[in-house]
Amino acid sequence: MLKTIRRIHCLLLGTAALVTAVSLGSAASVAQDKNETKIVATFLPIYMFTKGVTGESGKVELLIPAGADPHDYQATPENARSIAEADVLVKNGLGLEEFLEKLVDATGNSQLQEIDASQNIEPLEEEDKDHDDHDHDHHHGHHHEEGNPHVWLDPVLAQQQVKNIRDGLIQADSANEATYRANADIYLRKLQELHQEFQSRLSPFQGCKFIAFHDAYPYLAQRYNLQQMAVVELPEDNITPRDVQIVIKAAEEYQVKGLLAETGFNDNRMQQIAKDIRLPIKKLDPVISGSLDPEYYFTAMRNNIKTLEEVCQ
Ligand SMILES: [Zn+2]
Repeated sequence: MLKTIRRIHCLLLGTAALVTAVSLGSAASVAQDKNETKIVATFLPIYMFTKGVTGESGKVELLIPAGADPHDYQATPENARSIAEADVLVKNGLGLEEFLEKLVDATGNSQLQEIDASQNIEPLEEEDKDHDDHDHDHHHGHHHEEGNPHVWLDPVLAQQQVKNIRDGLIQADSANEATYRANADIYLRKLQELHQEFQSRLSPFQGCKFIAFHDAYPYLAQRYNLQQMAVVELPEDNITPRDVQIVIKAAEEYQVKGLLAETGFNDNRMQQIAKDIRLPIKKLDPVISGSLDPEYYFTAMRNNIKTLEEVCQ
């Protein structure tokens, strides 16, 4: 399942190492080198983690625009060009980027080094979305054979992803090892602080049960002793009375504290369902849209802490 990183560019990197050795520690000057490593990251969280490691100076291209759904993303000719010219491709892995393998093969870039950010992470199985009693055709859902790919939403697993990215970048571009290590240390410390904040702020709400509409939060729930009781995947339009019944039934069956929807959901209908069953509905952010600033991950995740506090109180 895991791709090994191919060693390439040995001669080129060797030269680059000589040239840049003098300026190690000064990331800005390194980035101006025209031999700089061209890095492409697949989607927003992976882009932010990669930027966190390269620092301000490193040039990283984002493949899937922020806000686009990585699950059913259709690659563009521009994407193909980006990958054809790239030295390094950083992906979430665990089958999230379904389009990627074909795209990479098509570009015929034999020099490309792939970094699988989920390497050495043991994935959870995807939720059985049907819970035995719901129609299959209610789900437009995506099933990933490699397990649930939403690991970036757990600040502890995110640290493993950052370490994987750091190690992969060092292997691809050893000239900048010191920069990558220094930046990664800072980013990892922030992720650890975020984790501690999740722990302390959610500790009064142990066991809090919620219903989600996308199977994106099992890692987060497991980490902080919350319970994602059900995942009800509603159609993107035309929510039927039967869909509403499914939500109501699940809410009663599992005695949940609230409904956690996502950005992009039709507010009015969801608000109506929530009103009918007298449960709060809040938006939990999967962090696939928003600012490209690597700090934005922390902003979005702190908003998620607040959301969970409000739902679970
Ligand atoms: Zn997803």
